Amino acid sequence: MQKMDVVIIGGGMVGLTLAAALGQTTLRVAVISHTAFSQPLSAAPSLRVSTINEANHHALAKLQVWQQLPEDRIAAYQHMHVWDKDSFGHIHFDARDTQSPQLGHIIENQVLTNALVAQIQHLRNVTLIEASVDKILSGDQETMLMLNNDEVVSCQLLVGADGANSMVRRHAGFPETFKDYDHRAIVATIRTPQPHQTCARQVFTPDGPLALLPLKDPHLCSVVWSQQTDKAEALIALSDTDFAHAMTAACNSELGAITLESERRAFTLTMRYARQWADNGIAIIGDAAHTIHPLAGQGANLGMQDALDLAEHLVKVHEAGQPLGRYKDLRAFERARKTEAMKMIAAMDGFKALFAGDNPLKKLIRGTGLALTNEVPLVKRKLIEQAMGF
Ligand SMILES: Cc1cc2nc3c(=O)[nH]c(=O)nc-3n(C[C@H](O)[C@H](O)[C@H](O)COP(=O)(O)OP(=O)(O)OC[C@H]3O[C@@H](n4cnc5c(N)ncnc54)[C@H](O)[C@@H]3O)c2cc1C
Repeated sequence: MQKMDVVIIGGGMVGLTLAAALGQTTLRVAVISHTAFSQPLSAAPSLRVSTINEANHHALAKLQVWQQLPEDRIAAYQHMHVWDKDSFGHIHFDARDTQSPQLGHIIENQVLTNALVAQIQHLRNVTLIEASVDKILSGDQETMLMLNNDEVVSCQLLVGADGANSMVRRHAGFPETFKDYDHRAIVATIRTPQPHQTCARQVFTPDGPLALLPLKDPHLCSVVWSQQTDKAEALIALSDTDFAHAMTAACNSELGAITLESERRAFTLTMRYARQWADNGIAIIGDAAHTIHPLAGQGANLGMQDALDLAEHLVKVHEAGQPLGRYKDLRAFERARKTEAMKMIAAMDGFKALFAGDNPLKKLIRGTGLALTNEVPLVKRKLIEQAMGF
C-alpha cells in the first residue's frame, strides 16, 4: 500500500496545477489519471486551447511550469476587440494600457498539461499513477483507494479534480445545481488571409458569441463559436466551405474570407456548480466543482486558482502541524472559492442574457454600454484587470 498525504484524482490542467504547487512542500502527493498524463503533440495546433490569464501565467512561472512550455506553441495577445454584431457597440483593449506586455496567452490544453507533467517529474514528493479508481473507502482519519492495477493508496485528503462528471463529487454526495445553457460550442482552427496581429476577437451575435483566438502563426486562429443548440446543429451540418462562409459573415469579414484548417468539434455547454466543495478528508476543485460558459475563457483559469488556493491552505495547515483534511480547516477555502465561482457564473449568465436576441432595448443598452465603457478609462481598466485575473 502506498501511503500519501494528498491524493488528487484527475490529471487535467487543474489537478496537475495542484500537484505542481504541492510539489514545493514536503507533503507526499499522488495524482491518479485514467488517461495518459502527457501526449505527443502533432505538428498542427490541437483543437482544444485555453486563454490563460496573467494571474495564472505568473503563478505557473513561479512553479517553474511556464519555463517548460515550448516557445513555438504559446501565443501572447496584446489586444482584445469585442463587438456586438447588431449594434454600434464595440470595445478595444490594449496591453499598452496595462503594466503587462500582453493581456494573456492562448495555449493548447495538451501543451500546458505536458509542461505541468514535465515539471512535476522533477519533484521527488509527487507520484503520477496511470490507473482507474475502482473503489473509494472513506474512513475517519484516512481514505483508501483501490486501483484497477491492484494497488491500494491511502491519504489524509482526497482531492477530486476529475472534471465535470467527477466520481469524487458523486462519492462525497455533494449536491449540485445544474442548468442547460441551450448552447453548443463549435471549436476549430481557421486560416485567415489577413494576419490577426495578436488580437483576440469576440463578436456577440444574437444566437451566441464567436471568439477568434490568435495562435502563434499570424494567419491561424482557434475559434469557439457558441450558438443556440438548433442553430449550432444547422452549422455543424454545413459543408466546410459553407461553414467557413457563415463564420466570415458572422464576424463581418474582420480578417477576410476564412478557410477551415481542421475538423470541427462541438461541445454541449452546461452550467454546473457543486453546492458543497469539501467535507472531512475530501475536496473538489476545477470542473468537478463548477463548469461555466466559455464566452469569457475563464473555466480553467478559475480552476487553476482553486488549485493554488487549496495548496496555500494545505501548506498553512501542514506548517501548523495539524492533520490535513479537517472540514473545519477546509471551510475557509471552500467559502472563498465558491464565492469566486458564483461571481463568474453570474457574470456569464448576465453577458449571455444581455447579448442574446435582437430586442431593440437590449440592442440600445449593448451599443451604448460598450461604447461608453470604451470611452471611460477607469471602467475599462477595471474590466481588463478582471480579464487578466488580477
Ligand atoms: C469549448 C470550450 C472552450 C474553453 N475555453 C477556455 C478558455 O479559453 N479558458 C479557460 O480558462 N477555460 C476554457 N474552457 C474551460 C476549460 O476547458 C475547463 O474548465 C478545464 O479544462 C477544466 O479542467 P479540469 O482539470 O478541472 O478538468 P478536465 O480537463 O476535465 O480534467 C479532468 C481529468 O480527470 C481525469 N479523470 C476523470 N475521471 C477520472 C477517474 N475516475 N479516474 C482517474 N482520472 C479521471 C480525466 O481523464 C481528465 O484528465 C473551455 C471549455 C470549453 C468546453
